[in-house]
Amino acid sequence: MTTQGVAILGSTGSIGTTALRVLARHRERFEVRVLTAHANVAVLRQQVSDWSPGFVALVEGDGEVPATWGRGPGSLVEAATRPDTSIVLNAIVGAAGLDATLAALDAGKRVALANKESLVVGGELVGAAARRGGGIVVPVDSEHSAILQCLGVRGAAEVRRLIITASGGPFREWPIDRIRKATAHDALRHPTWSMGRKITVDSATLANKALEVIEAHFLFGLGYDQIEVVVHPQSIVHSMVEFRDGSVLAQLGVPSMELPILYAFSHPERLEDPGIPAFDPIAAARLDFETVRHDVFPCLGLGVAAGKAGGAAPAVFNGANEQAVALFLEGRAPFGAIADAVHEALARHAGLAGDDLPALWHADAAARRTVKEMFR
Ligand code: NAD
Ligand code: MG
Repeated sequence: MTTQGVAILGSTGSIGTTALRVLARHRERFEVRVLTAHANVAVLRQQVSDWSPGFVALVEGDGEVPATWGRGPGSLVEAATRPDTSIVLNAIVGAAGLDATLAALDAGKRVALANKESLVVGGELVGAAARRGGGIVVPVDSEHSAILQCLGVRGAAEVRRLIITASGGPFREWPIDRIRKATAHDALRHPTWSMGRKITVDSATLANKALEVIEAHFLFGLGYDQIEVVVHPQSIVHSMVEFRDGSVLAQLGVPSMELPILYAFSHPERLEDPGIPAFDPIAAARLDFETVRHDVFPCLGLGVAAGKAGGAAPAVFNGANEQAVALFLEGRAPFGAIADAVHEALARHAGLAGDDLPALWHADAAARRTVKEMFR
């Protein structure tokens, strides 16, 4: 068995570090040859000394770094297209990951995609890059990994419906008035998953589920009316597929990203890995399902509507959400204002075209500007 070269973009984050832990158990099969980080020099240095990759990039951040390291956002494209890798794990957070996804697909790579924002902002372009370059997208997101695993060899034509599960986040049972005033400390206490700050806040607003519905639409080629969201507080059933004959398959496991990350590398093969936490149905005991409180969590409906509207609307939704979450985390906007900001940006920038990359970046910037103006 030959080893496959792997690039890890965003190696210092939650997904990046989890991926390195998984890959350390599969050194005969995968070799880490590229590492990139945004600004965390200390962790990146340690990873470089552990893995000796052939290419390293630090996008921002100051301090002395070796002269051989790539610098600036452009270095992500080099990192995504190195000839000695066949797999690129995109674990960057936000729209900042889009260029690398496109470049990797154009270069014919397998993109293990954690960076769902790539598909939300540029879903059509991502599909086109894959067709052009021969690359493939394999999802890392646990829900989409579950769907991929349930689908097996079946295509969209045999699917009636996808049922995406949502933990409901930390505010699942909170009254609406209390949610609107929630602090970053409250929002960062996720009940079932340990993740980066941005996605943890997105899980509290349910914007994350909107991003995931759009992601599923592009990954699996299904209409928005075929994608449903159900709250499942235990995060054991990672999602379900209902086939046209009414049969429903689900994928289950403890809430850990190790399996979806490994599966994104090995799909359709399954690798033995005793390090992945075992599932015990007796310990799980209960699986509850509830409807989403759409009136309390408007970001989900706003995002799905943006997906249906198409054009640049998903990019506006994403850009506004990223900006609002950043302001919330800085303590400059209350939790309830995230949905208000997204709503305002979508209303203000309705109908923008999203046919090419410049148009999408224009929409992204316009959305961010609108949100910044609201909280000046
Ligand atoms: P994180 O904040 O922990 O890590 C983000 C990584 O991206 C870091 O390595 C950082 O250095 C890098 N980065 C940040 N901004 C960058 C920029 N502008 N340019 C280049 N690199 C940049 O985030 P995370 O939780 O690991 O999430 C990463 C992605 O995976 C997100 O899209 C998230 O939605 C998705 N995801 C995460 C989880 C999870 O369990 N953490 C689960 C499913 C999907
Ligand atoms: Mg998910």
